[in-house]
Amino acid sequence: AIAVLGSTNMDLVAYVPKAPRLGETVTGSAFRTVPGGKGANQAVAAARSGGEVVMIGAVGADEFGVRLRSALTAAGVETAALRTVEGASGTAHITVDDEGGNSIIVIPGANGGVTGLEAGDAARIGAADLLLLQLELPMEAVLAGASAARAQGVRTVLTPAPARMLPHELLGLVDLLVPNEHEAAALTGFTDPLGAAEALLREVPEVVVTLGAAGVLYAARGQEPLTVPAPRVRAVDTTAAGDTFVGALAVALGEGRPMPQALRWASAAAALSVQRPGAQDSMPTRAETDAFAAA
Ligand code: ADP
Repeated sequence: AIAVLGSTNMDLVAYVPKAPRLGETVTGSAFRTVPGGKGANQAVAAARSGGEVVMIGAVGADEFGVRLRSALTAAGVETAALRTVEGASGTAHITVDDEGGNSIIVIPGANGGVTGLEAGDAARIGAADLLLLQLELPMEAVLAGASAARAQGVRTVLTPAPARMLPHELLGLVDLLVPNEHEAAALTGFTDPLGAAEALLREVPEVVVTLGAAGVLYAARGQEPLTVPAPRVRAVDTTAAGDTFVGALAVALGEGRPMPQALRWASAAAALSVQRPGAQDSMPTRAETDAFAAA
């Protein structure tokens, strides 16, 4: 089983020819509300990949909260540990322009109130094979989750996004770090992925740097680094590609598959997701990933 301690956000997406400047009003072409948040995205990716998934976090007591919870439930994610709290759900206000460029305002809302574990959470984490963490909850909560996992021998996987400096204490509790190349560079100052991965191995035992269309780089202490190329596909929307990758990787590792095989399977899942528009909507089922990985 997989536990996710992380964020749920409603993504409010406005499509415009060009993003408005300060004081300017522009007329856009479309508006969509889509369930998101890195935590929820990873939970959905893992559930679609066939994992038994529990989501720990919070939504607000508003209409978005109801929809965010039902999106998780519909994907098969257990939401008993997703609290409904006073106030607004987390939202991401996204402007997408005609060139595909975007600008984003994230308002944490209910996510910002998650500052630690609640009754039953440590046991939920203890019952899991892996705990998935990201950085859209307050650092106290991420630390509390990682400590609970370590104390119970549960493997922790941290996606260090959005990029920020990490306390040493947190890195010391992480078993597998999965940055994209920008996050890896931000964390280490090394712009080449191999240099960044080697620097990160001083803090964590295993690192996977995701490289977009170039695939992934895996590095572990005392082993030769391994590059797994991504399947060549036509990408239409890479939103949540990284979250799809991590969710699928967690399922494969939780089933005891060896790392190289798990990396290839997760790469297949992520490559399927980039060929479809959307975030959670674009995530493949286990059967789809199996079929694509075998082809
Ligand atoms: P993020 O989405 O977090 O920025 P990446 O861009 O590195 O992270 O993408 C995560 C993973 O998604 C990649 O390692 C790869 O497996 C897959 N992926 C992303 N873009 C493509 C693409 N154009 N073709 C195939 N796979 C892709």
